[in-house]
Amino acid sequence: MPKLTIRDIDLKNKKILMRADYNVPLDKSSPRQITDDTRIKESIPTIKHLIGQGCSLILCSHLGRPKGKALPEFSLKPVAERLSELLGQEVNPHTNGQSIGVRVKFASDCVGDEVKKLAGSLKPKDILLLENLRFHPEEEKNNENFAKQLSELAEFFVQDAFGTVHRAHASTAGVNKFLPSAAGFLLEKEIKYLGDSLQNPKRPFVAILGGAKVSDKIGVIENLIPKVDAIIIGGAMAYTFLKAQGIRVGSSRVEEDKLEVAKEICKKSGKITFLLPVDHVIADKLDKAANVENTNGIEIKDGWMGVDIGDSSISRYCTVILSAKTIVLNGPMGVFEIDRFAKGTNAISYAIADATSNGAVSIIGGGDSVSAVKKAGLAEKMSHISTGGGASLEFLEGKELPGIAALKDK
Ligand code: AMP
Repeated sequence: MPKLTIRDIDLKNKKILMRADYNVPLDKSSPRQITDDTRIKESIPTIKHLIGQGCSLILCSHLGRPKGKALPEFSLKPVAERLSELLGQEVNPHTNGQSIGVRVKFASDCVGDEVKKLAGSLKPKDILLLENLRFHPEEEKNNENFAKQLSELAEFFVQDAFGTVHRAHASTAGVNKFLPSAAGFLLEKEIKYLGDSLQNPKRPFVAILGGAKVSDKIGVIENLIPKVDAIIIGGAMAYTFLKAQGIRVGSSRVEEDKLEVAKEICKKSGKITFLLPVDHVIADKLDKAANVENTNGIEIKDGWMGVDIGDSSISRYCTVILSAKTIVLNGPMGVFEIDRFAKGTNAISYAIADATSNGAVSIIGGGDSVSAVKKAGLAEKMSHISTGGGASLEFLEGKELPGIAALKDK
């Protein structure tokens, strides 16, 4: 059932509590500087829409893992400053090219009398960012009283933090009990792409899964087998599958306790195309100065480890990708952080970009895949870059995400 979004309701002049995902990376300097403001930028379309309706906005988020303590290094203050700068660059179409020019106020806590006073004094189009929700242990415990305190700051709740909707926290699944709510534009887009790809995919539907561990992706593979036409496996995950089939994998990274599960998955995948690498780039150690070779076939000799898929695998994988109409990518094909081992990951990214130009829908999820696609300069060519690693995986596993379930159906 589609969820209610801010498009569906008249929110004119309302006071809104908006959950954003401002869990941005910070450097170690003092005061700490934001090293990537993508998540802040991604919240702007929803903010602009609400401000355009004359709403006053109370933004809340978590940052890092302060474990219920008010630790200054996890303060959201730098986010308030960066958001002010970014909104200052946004042009207001109604005022002859002048900027929106909203100065974001900052509250030194997220609940309590001080915050109530600040929230109460907001005028239409004012924006207030609350301090880190996780400074209070009640946030992650989904404490009802804490959720109620948050809800009392506003008249309406907007959920736009896709990165945390797989958690049942006070600001994701608790406040909705006390306030009417709807999804913001970012969440709406995530639900549209991830939801449609699973429920109504254009075919052929191909899932490409890579990364370090089979154990992280078992749920995803099992949920996808009945839905997709092909699954392509790369990364260290592949070696657990190959070893389970009795193939020599040298000292490649293998999860010994998952060999049986890997065998079962191979059996279950009988009706679809299930591709494992047929050759590899191998190294004698996991280091950029390692000795490196390409294998001629599927086996890896003792003392060597698979660090990327080989050329024959690349060409087989690309053929399947180029014929796809829906593509989901989650996880790199090799140790892409080292340039010498990034060829497979890059080749797959280019093939997905080409398929997308030819009309396929492509959905990129997981932090490593997203950064590999960005590094290759291909982000703009993809249909959708998911903003939540854990949340997108749980979506693909077919789980109900508490922060989405808590929103009203249309
Ligand atoms: P994940 O977080 O599960 O998506 O895994 C991403 C990590 O898997 C990256 O840091 C990669 O370097 C790593 N990885 C990918 N392929 C391999 C491989 N063949 N051997 C060891 N690590 C790998």
